[in-house]
Amino acid sequence: MTSSSRRFSDILIQKRTCKSALVRSRISVLDYAVNPYLGCAHGCVYCYATFMARYSGHSEPWGSFVDVKANLPEVLAQEVRRRKPGRVGIGTVCDPYQPAEANYGLTRSALGILGKAGFSVSVATKSDLVTRDIDVLQDVQDATVEITVTTLDENAARFFEPGAPSMDKRFEAMERLVKAGVRTGAFFGPVLPFFSDRADKVEQLFEKLSRTGVRRVLVDRFNYLRSKYPLIQGWLRANRPEAVPHFEKALRQPGWYRQRLGETILGARKYGLDCRVLF
Ligand code: SF4
Repeated sequence: MTSSSRRFSDILIQKRTCKSALVRSRISVLDYAVNPYLGCAHGCVYCYATFMARYSGHSEPWGSFVDVKANLPEVLAQEVRRRKPGRVGIGTVCDPYQPAEANYGLTRSALGILGKAGFSVSVATKSDLVTRDIDVLQDVQDATVEITVTTLDENAARFFEPGAPSMDKRFEAMERLVKAGVRTGAFFGPVLPFFSDRADKVEQLFEKLSRTGVRRVLVDRFNYLRSKYPLIQGWLRANRPEAVPHFEKALRQPGWYRQRLGETILGARKYGLDCRVLF
């Protein structure tokens, strides 16, 4: 039920109440999931979570609305008393450190509640705001943070992830987390044809990652971008036409692309990163 709404910059923010905060996760390595926000101001063009707009009755474009589960800390505090401790994914659907978190602090509250109740957490984000919570993360047993990186081409990043922090901020965040002793990895995905899949691009990225101190990288390709391609194609044609054949070949020949990308990733092993390819 909506209790209030206001505009935060040009994002429609609505405070809602939730009935449940700790839900069973379908991801094999997690027991539960907590998602303090529905909708995401990062507004990534390739976002897999856009289907959530339908379930929440939003007709606004993805990236322009965020529902804030304002009572999530109270609900979660009750639920952890009834549930067996396990591993909790924070932000399995929408980014838990998107800009609204700076105001509402729901992710920070959730980490504190889960940590005190003996749950372990796995945080996924694109935002350096996660470093604000280093003190809380240090107190949660077996806390891990995964920061997503996609491309070092800032111009492309602004199109694909218009509301997300720059790659440099993400690298800085990794470095700060690692230095603070928080187990931190990188999620390299979706790998964008032309912008981030060529050997020199992968090497540059891995070299930067290795300098942050992270040792783990999960890599995922862009297979779910197929349905988003009509929108992507328009931008590519207008701004980076040289990338069009690369995207289209990757979509037309997924088997070939998978193999080629796998080989390219293997070629970047020299940076000493423990790399898991998820395709
Ligand atoms: S940060 Fe994640 S949840 Fe947010 S728009 Fe991008 S892909 Fe979607």
